Amino acid sequence: MTKTRATDSTGLRLLSEKIRVPVARRAGGERVPCPICSPNRPKFVIGLMAYFPADSGVRFIGHDCADTHFTDDFRQAEVRFRAEVQAVEIQALWTELAPRGVEMASKAVGLMTVTRPLQMCRDAFGYHITDFAQFLYRNRPGSISKQDEKTRKAVYSVAGLSFLSDTFRPHDKLREIASGIRELHRPLPDWNSDSGTSAALKEIGQRGQKLQAAIKALPKLVSEIGDARQFLTRESFRRIDRWHRGGSSPFASLLMELEGGFVSVQATSFERTYSIRAEVSADIFKALPTLAEVTFRTSKGNK
Ligand SMILES: [Zn+2]
Repeated sequence: MTKTRATDSTGLRLLSEKIRVPVARRAGGERVPCPICSPNRPKFVIGLMAYFPADSGVRFIGHDCADTHFTDDFRQAEVRFRAEVQAVEIQALWTELAPRGVEMASKAVGLMTVTRPLQMCRDAFGYHITDFAQFLYRNRPGSISKQDEKTRKAVYSVAGLSFLSDTFRPHDKLREIASGIRELHRPLPDWNSDSGTSAALKEIGQRGQKLQAAIKALPKLVSEIGDARQFLTRESFRRIDRWHRGGSSPFASLLMELEGGFVSVQATSFERTYSIRAEVSADIFKALPTLAEVTFRTSKGNK
């Protein structure tokens, strides 16, 4: 290790995270000399290992000093170090999950038989601000419910109002997830920390993030589908009807029916009249995988 002063930080590379030195255990509780600004006298408690290509020196430097004296080179070195640490994690993730890639992708694709008709039905309710879904959801977001005045317990509440949220696009989301998982079908480019900041490092970072996001989003989507599809039930419509008759709804008239595999809505607000008709395919209610079945844990656990 080099203890001489570092003057040229061109191409500086970090070799470690920040390291806190237990200085209390050092003779006299002495701090560590800094080969940037104070090579011969005690200076810092938290430092990091760095490689200086200019003189091939490896130095243990104070992290504040590096930031102060080598600002740009240090920032670049930090970014690169983080990308390298991430790339090593992603390579490990790939080694572990690639053998299961086909199985994982088929679980996602299998769900499309549910998300496709579910999103088609949602589409019929509209996404624009003046549309019925917005009107109902925005006016009573997630809480068409009634409390007993004495016991304060819920007399009823309508499940699955998230179906009407304008961000509920389950099929689009699932396609994105499946695409993220399919990254596993293609090996990562060769890369190790000696290869430098190559296109390969960038590709590993991008594809790894896509995969990680997909793995995280899949169980979440399955829960959302399970919740949202409860909206398309007679029970929900009965409760919405009670809510409307109770005088709490913003509609002058509201009629929602589920009949013969179709939902129909006739509603009048002070603004306009809504008329919606959409197919409620039986596939929407197909059994969903358990969360455990769509949670792809690695031996290190998912972050
Ligand atoms: Zn220093």
